[in-house]
Amino acid sequence: MRAAVYYKNDDIRIEDVPVPEIGHGEMLLKVMTTGICGSDVHEFYRAKHAPVILGHELAGIIEETGEGVEDFKPGDRITCFHHVPCGACPRCVNGHETACDTFKKVHFYPGGFSEYVRIHPLQVRLGAMKLPEDMSFEVGAFAEPVGCVYRGQRLAGMAAGKKILIIGSGIAGVIHIKLAKLWGASLVVATDIHQFRKMKGLEFGADSVFDASADVPRLFRDMNDGWGADIVILNAMAPSAIRQAMDTVEKGGTILIFGLGAPGQTMDIPLGEFLAGEISVVTSYSGGPVDSHRGFELIKSGRIDVGKMITHRFPLEKIQEGFQLTAAAGESLKVMLFPHEMPETDE
Ligand SMILES: [Zn+2]
Ligand SMILES: [Zn+2]
Repeated sequence: MRAAVYYKNDDIRIEDVPVPEIGHGEMLLKVMTTGICGSDVHEFYRAKHAPVILGHELAGIIEETGEGVEDFKPGDRITCFHHVPCGACPRCVNGHETACDTFKKVHFYPGGFSEYVRIHPLQVRLGAMKLPEDMSFEVGAFAEPVGCVYRGQRLAGMAAGKKILIIGSGIAGVIHIKLAKLWGASLVVATDIHQFRKMKGLEFGADSVFDASADVPRLFRDMNDGWGADIVILNAMAPSAIRQAMDTVEKGGTILIFGLGAPGQTMDIPLGEFLAGEISVVTSYSGGPVDSHRGFELIKSGRIDVGKMITHRFPLEKIQEGFQLTAAAGESLKVMLFPHEMPETDE
């Protein structure tokens, strides 16, 4: 089968690799679509594993089921979570399933940017979900990114009436905007450096979107009777973005670290100020089964229209173009790849 093998951001090769064989409790999935995630283009994070077949936001059709698989059959249209935790270790029990050692060991094989993947027995049990008949594959593939955002906001204490600053209006940013509004946040302000993404931020419901180079802490307070933000969500980890987060968060508020920092990057926290102000720093990595299922329910119910977040569609062969667009972080949100046929779209 064809698969896109990642060497580095500007060197992704379509190679011929064997179709994975499946065993007891496993399934073979025909991959109909896979989204490119912002984390796929973090070269320092990915290149150390190269050559590797990436791709973790997918949907497809079950081609074959192994012995012992009862809940699914060939022909079922599904989406599935890439990583699944054990559910029983102390980290899982404490609600940090995404830090579970099993979590990252369970994944699609060889990777979503290929024609077929093998689904692990734990994924079959906790990660696979059938798509409603009227849901397209590309919409179904959003279960993973929406689940990640849902988890981040839940851990950060999102609630109705809160005032939120979202730094970075790429795909994670616009899902954050949309979700914060669904939770009932009463003020959602976003930032970005690109005009296209600032427009998208407004389109997906931000009350205001500022250029990241502006005096964001002051502009936020101007909009909020002089008060800072209850929650600041960091999708971008540039030092200037971190500075803005610390200068905008209100006493008693929370900074959510959601984006991937540079290798070895640190954050200088003024301990006295944070203690006296009871300011929390919360991190959220990936998405566990609970949040991912909730995210999928939101997509199913139509409360979050993820289809509109797709800006580009390419056959798998054009993955290089998709990576360039995603890495440029400019005029794109979600880029979807199609290893088999391209979908028919209205545009
Ligand atoms: Zn992702
Ligand atoms: Zn665990």
